[in-house]
Amino acid sequence: MNISRNDNRAYRAITLDNGLKVLLVQDKDSTKAAASMAVNAGHFDDPLDRQGLAHFLEHMLFLGTDQYPDSGSFNNFVSQAGGNTNAWTGTEHTCYYFDINNQEIKGALAQFSRFFIAPLLNPAETEKERNAIEAEFKLKIKDDGRRIYQAHKETVNPAHPFAKFSVGNLQTLADRERCISDELRDFFNNHYQAQWMTLVICANEPLDILEKWASHYFSPIKGNKGQAKPAINEPLYRPEDIGKVLHIEPHKHMQKLIVSFAMPNIDDFYRHKTVSFIAHLLGYEGAGSLYSILKEQGWINALSAGGGINGSNFKDFNISMALTDEGIEYFEDIIEIVFEYICLINDNTDKLPRLYQDKKNLLQIAFDNQEKSRLIDWVSNLSINMQHYDEANYVQGDYLMEGFKKTTHEMAMQWLTPHNMRLVLIHPDVEPEHKTAWYNTPYKVEAISPHWLASLAHINKPLSTMLLPTANPYLTKEVVLYDVEKPQTKPQLLVKEPGFDFWFKQDNTFRVAKGHFYLAMDSHFAVKDVKHMALTRLFSDLFMDSVGEQFYPAELAGLSYHLTSHQGGLTLHTAGLSTSQLELVEQLLDALFNVDICARRFAEYKKQLVRHWRNSNQNKPVSELFSVLGAKVMPWNPQPDELATALKNTCFQQFNEFRQDFFKALHVESFLHGNWQQSDAENFHKKVSEHLKSATAIEDLTRPLHEINEVTRCELELACSDHAMVIYYQAQTSDVDEKVKLMALNHLINQDYFNELRTTQQLGYLVGTGYAPFNTRAGIAFYIQSPKFEAHALLHRHNHFINQFIANIDDLDDDSWQQHKHGLGTHIAEKDKNLRLRSQRFWLAIGNKDHEFHMQKRLLEALHALTLEQIKAYAIATFADDRPRYELLSSAKVNKSQKMPLCSQSL
Ligand SMILES: [Zn+2]
Repeated sequence: MNISRNDNRAYRAITLDNGLKVLLVQDKDSTKAAASMAVNAGHFDDPLDRQGLAHFLEHMLFLGTDQYPDSGSFNNFVSQAGGNTNAWTGTEHTCYYFDINNQEIKGALAQFSRFFIAPLLNPAETEKERNAIEAEFKLKIKDDGRRIYQAHKETVNPAHPFAKFSVGNLQTLADRERCISDELRDFFNNHYQAQWMTLVICANEPLDILEKWASHYFSPIKGNKGQAKPAINEPLYRPEDIGKVLHIEPHKHMQKLIVSFAMPNIDDFYRHKTVSFIAHLLGYEGAGSLYSILKEQGWINALSAGGGINGSNFKDFNISMALTDEGIEYFEDIIEIVFEYICLINDNTDKLPRLYQDKKNLLQIAFDNQEKSRLIDWVSNLSINMQHYDEANYVQGDYLMEGFKKTTHEMAMQWLTPHNMRLVLIHPDVEPEHKTAWYNTPYKVEAISPHWLASLAHINKPLSTMLLPTANPYLTKEVVLYDVEKPQTKPQLLVKEPGFDFWFKQDNTFRVAKGHFYLAMDSHFAVKDVKHMALTRLFSDLFMDSVGEQFYPAELAGLSYHLTSHQGGLTLHTAGLSTSQLELVEQLLDALFNVDICARRFAEYKKQLVRHWRNSNQNKPVSELFSVLGAKVMPWNPQPDELATALKNTCFQQFNEFRQDFFKALHVESFLHGNWQQSDAENFHKKVSEHLKSATAIEDLTRPLHEINEVTRCELELACSDHAMVIYYQAQTSDVDEKVKLMALNHLINQDYFNELRTTQQLGYLVGTGYAPFNTRAGIAFYIQSPKFEAHALLHRHNHFINQFIANIDDLDDDSWQQHKHGLGTHIAEKDKNLRLRSQRFWLAIGNKDHEFHMQKRLLEALHALTLEQIKAYAIATFADDRPRYELLSSAKVNKSQKMPLCSQSL
């Protein structure tokens, strides 16, 4: 197994007698264990007259098996043991995964394995769970991703399985003569076979033990080792499906052009990354790039290359561009320029091996300095990789670039021709001729004129201003891992000056040649009024836009940078390889004060941002209610609508004045963390101070918090088809004790809430509770979004549930309370997986004035001390009738685009 030099886990790949491929991983550092099963079956396998069946089966496997017949059994088990579980259904694969306390992994595997051996598929459960599929379908009915996807499906070869509807709903899963449970069982028997499955198990146990468990629990899965998955023989596009322009009208405002080239399956290229390398050339954003030239014209705001659907016999190679208003007018000219850039690549094949080597070095550095990600995400990715890569490359597959192969490169470039192209133009002014099934997406299909295609095919010269990527200036230094000077457990306040705190910590845990730098600048001008809050956000967007080309090589070299707005000002964050990062920060600070922002980009971004904020009206009602809640509780976090209105009325001169004023007086807090020594940090501090010396020092700005003092109800009408409810309880103190009580309450209630209101009552797809702090004040939120029940009914059901919960609270015995405590303790105690998460946690602590960096420890102590009697008393007090809270209700108001607050009253 090829693994990173930085990876201390042990691996073993085995194949069971039934054909199941298993990857066993021992991770001694992890407090959690995890497993993931990928199945080579997805919606492509749905019977034509039962679309959505694969997805429905995915839901049903969680709802009871022979040995664990209870519908909530696995979810409850995992959640009580401090874990999470989920699943998804794709085109040709379905994936199930969970993480859990190390101690509980064996029991979890025992339950999990039954999913794939003997699911009950109980008719009483199918009856109910169909509604969850329906609610999931309705939830995404306004989602442009889904709506556009459906238009795509209706314009391909109808005999290809991609043409089928993937989600399913009450209609496609309706009852017929034969019980749907039996159809689910047929599907399960046909497609859930061991030789088409791949399993990853990662825990802190020795590999021999894991192997024993894998074989014991998963050998009973039925399989037929030699049997290959039948290939798809229909092409995705027939000749008549190529050469089309698909005009699609989005639901939210969007202007996008996708130039799409049809390719066959490209799995075999993975060791050379032939297609990704071409995507790298076309997606390059430095001087003379396709992006740079189109942006200079004022036609695009963003460009990406290489994305697009792919599967076992097809791949769309997309060049996607976010267009300006003018870009819509000139979309044909944009496509000409695309082909001119393709010419540039074809004319310079001899220069490509050097560029390939650059990219390969980068991937190698990235792989060598690879950090652990969230275990549950990592195992699920691996189980999918196992479906595509050779055994030796399960782990390294994504990073392999074995060498530039001229023949395959040239073969792939031959697919990028006008006669192999489809165009998708997404914009609001389509004159639609069709509406898609299921989502009612308005669209129109036109043939591309053969004359235009002929003239595109004629293009044989690049523009003289076009350039290929150049050697990367950020890669000239050697990547060195410094010795640890004196191991420190927490950041030190290296320098404290009026208005400027500089924190530093050398990393001695993760030992990667990387680091993070944060710089938060608070300014009174950021919070003067809503207009200034909007301008702060606009400045961060415009800054990122103005420096994109200059710093693109840094991004390629594995350095990232972001300027974002926060309540009170702006934060600059850089991350990635430590080697050249400090130079990057210096250049960024220089740009912060000096980069030229022109009136044209101001106008474009102002327009985009106003649209973006207005669009947020069309979010899911639950998200909208949370946004209302956030604005009520955090006065410096106004609602998108208010920001849009304020920004609409600003001019370029005001923006420039704001930019000057913002930096006149600042409070600065910064943190350097990673592969640096103290002398680096000291030098670096000097340089940063130098850049900021003209600013007057001010005290830092405390983020205001609105305390909820009474029961307040707020009712809205939203332009969407679902109703929703959010109930929010704020902690009444800032004490750690109360934080822990709210976390524990959430842990006690959340699984039952989901089981009762979603699985049993089927109120909707989005149902849940969450621990939700705002500006460091703890809180707990309950939310339900429903296509069927109106908001008052949801509130009624919610209240009924809460009353039952309180009425039965004495049934909670000490045993199960200890279990809950243990589960929650695992969550709180979870170790930072990587440098990024560790940096984030320290940075958050600095912002919260937790300068001892011991919040985790204090929470665990408070949890340890919390008794059953105390939590019962707290639950009863919290759910008392007159306990202050917010009740946010929204009802559906279809065919009306304006949101109208009906009333906002105190009860
Ligand atoms: Zn689902």
